[in-house]
Amino acid sequence: MPTSLPVPPDSALALWLAANGLDADLVRAVLATAVPLAQPGRAADEPEPAPLSPALVRRWCAEAFGAAWPALSETVRRTCADVAVVLDDGPGARPQIHDHGPDAAPTIKVPWRRGDARDALALAHELAHAVQIIASHARTPGAAMPPVAREVCAFLGERALLAHLRDRSEGCALRTAHVAEDGVYLGEDAATLGAAFADPQAGYDYRWNYPVARWLARRARELSDPGEAAALLSSGPDAPARLRPLIHAALAAQNPLPPVLARDEPGPLVAYRQIGVAAALETARGEESEPETVEAFYEALLDGLRESRLAIGLDEEARPFGWAVAGRDGEGRPQAARLAAPFGDPAAMEALAARRLEAAPAAGSAP
Ligand SMILES: [Zn+2]
Repeated sequence: MPTSLPVPPDSALALWLAANGLDADLVRAVLATAVPLAQPGRAADEPEPAPLSPALVRRWCAEAFGAAWPALSETVRRTCADVAVVLDDGPGARPQIHDHGPDAAPTIKVPWRRGDARDALALAHELAHAVQIIASHARTPGAAMPPVAREVCAFLGERALLAHLRDRSEGCALRTAHVAEDGVYLGEDAATLGAAFADPQAGYDYRWNYPVARWLARRARELSDPGEAAALLSSGPDAPARLRPLIHAALAAQNPLPPVLARDEPGPLVAYRQIGVAAALETARGEESEPETVEAFYEALLDGLRESRLAIGLDEEARPFGWAVAGRDGEGRPQAARLAAPFGDPAAMEALAARRLEAAPAAGSAP
């Protein structure tokens, strides 16, 4: 297999691995699991979103980054308000940031064609780079952060903006554009990096940095912790040492279940799918679950299905991460009657179960 070829020690690939504190097996393992998400299509009758202004996106980023990384709130505020941004509407425009060292703010150039979701994501990406550059110079003046870590920081910025706009109409367009860009970072760019492992003569390509960074920004649960993310943004040359354990942990926690891509329409097929998914999740729990008969498991499932109280949690890749039967405690407050989240956050599953309870018809109501 070409992917198991040794990496020649003086190759561009070997230098890139060393600069980022990575080894070949770790990167190969990431490439084997990092796949683009299924792309949501835009409905034909969906209106074109109104153009965004750079000033509005800068304000959103200030709010989004400030909420995501409160330890860096002052750096975020100054960066989003003051860093110079040149808008380029030329055909070959591409996003760029220039690091002018510890004594001057970085400068940004971004394509700005229509003020669409792609333009907004590019600006958020570069502003997050600016925060990472300024925060890192404050801690270790003059020392640069290696590129994979740098791109993780920029992708965290994009994700912070998506989370901030979750409930707004613009958030939907940005999410669609973000998933479409996955197709490049985890598709074409991953193929380019994979090909470099098979070709000792391959020259360095900056795009090698994107697949691992994109995957890690999504999969590393620790990076959703504000303190951990702010520490990474500030870590400059020490970033690889912070990333390595996160990559190992994300690989170990990789969800082996396939994505559920079918739509949840009412009918027996949905019930069969939910039963199948819950059974797969219970099997995946393995030794941590209490021994139980198939009858008892099926009984619990049936109760949930009959009363529309069964909830299945899907992660960002549409893989099932948990299941629950929604219920109430002795005082009538939502409390899952049964819950397992072997590949995700139990609190997120608990919240889903509570929402399912709200949506379920009241017990005893007419059919
Ligand atoms: Zn970048």
